[in-house]
Amino acid sequence: MRKLSAHYIFTGTGVVLVKGIIILSDDGTIIDIIDTKGELDEMANVEFYSGALIPGFVNAHCHLELSHLHNVFPEKTGLPGFLKNVIECRNLEEDKVIDAARKADFELYKNGVVAVGDISNGNTTFQLKSKSKIVYHTFIEALGFSPQRAEKAFAWAQYYFEEALSLGLPVSVVPHAPYSISKELFDKISEFAVNQQSILSMHSQESSEEDDLYRSRDGEIVRHLTENLAIDLSSFEPTGKSALESVIHWLPKENKLLLVHNLRTCQKDIDLIAKTRSLNKTWFVLCPDSNLYIEDRLPDIELFRKNKLQICIGTDSLSSNHQLSMLAEMQTIQTHFPAIPLVEIVTWATGNGAEALEMNHWAGTIEQGKKPGINLISGMDLQHLRLLPNTKVKRLI
Ligand SMILES: [Zn+2]
Repeated sequence: MRKLSAHYIFTGTGVVLVKGIIILSDDGTIIDIIDTKGELDEMANVEFYSGALIPGFVNAHCHLELSHLHNVFPEKTGLPGFLKNVIECRNLEEDKVIDAARKADFELYKNGVVAVGDISNGNTTFQLKSKSKIVYHTFIEALGFSPQRAEKAFAWAQYYFEEALSLGLPVSVVPHAPYSISKELFDKISEFAVNQQSILSMHSQESSEEDDLYRSRDGEIVRHLTENLAIDLSSFEPTGKSALESVIHWLPKENKLLLVHNLRTCQKDIDLIAKTRSLNKTWFVLCPDSNLYIEDRLPDIELFRKNKLQICIGTDSLSSNHQLSMLAEMQTIQTHFPAIPLVEIVTWATGNGAEALEMNHWAGTIEQGKKPGINLISGMDLQHLRLLPNTKVKRLI
């Protein structure tokens, strides 16, 4: 049994305890939480830390299988430039890909991550994920903008789905993004998702070019599809609407949905999403460091708060980030949006992610009976409850 205390405990539910005590069993299950109301009298065997204790992080969006592309791509190329680079570098020898993914898995673990929503386009990382100390929800991404490819693309996704299931990995088949999935493929994914009651995830509103495709079949993504992927777009009818507006009703309302990036999301989009599906089943995943890397801008996070949206945080992959650190993502948010209280950002990085990935029965919050892992955040401004450039995270449990 261990008894942990610190200046503050952020429970991941929006509550902050001053000098509270967490009592844990040897296997890390929380037996009790004592709210001392700041009066921590001498208590036998309490380990007291300077800083804040928070639950283990839940990283809502990552691509382990792109870890070998660390420091390969130039920054701020915009999404079409980034997509072209990924295609050119994707097919590397498998052992190099696995080796980089293994290092990334360790980096995540060391940086206090207990659960990840991880995108897979193939099965390269399945063995590694099934043996990891981190719990992964694997999103098998189907890809195919030409309608003729729908059948084959879905068959591949289903094949990987079965393989992941056989290894005991929680898994769902999901659409990559509006600009890479045909209506025919969306329909197959949706039907399967309803049957399986899957959690869905989709890259959304990462660039203005995906809107150009749907509005007028024009722009850089169109050039990417036709020139780099040799897709014939002659049968694609532009909708005259934004990408999100064009596809959101193709995603089943009854399933949970993680919308990833939301870099261009404005009030009109939020109203549209709210009209199409329940916001209680919709999560908005922020990957701020990746957004700065690729598009050199950030989503309007204050707007998301104003609308009381369910926000999560992800690191995205090492191909568009310098590190896989949830703390670094939180620091970026705090630097650019200084008015957001830290307690809220912690909830996005822990409790909300666990709910979105259906891991809230054990992860995401410091509550009796759960086994969420405990991180120490040290070197922060304890007076104003803010992260500093030198703030560190250490995994205690
Ligand atoms: Zn991504």
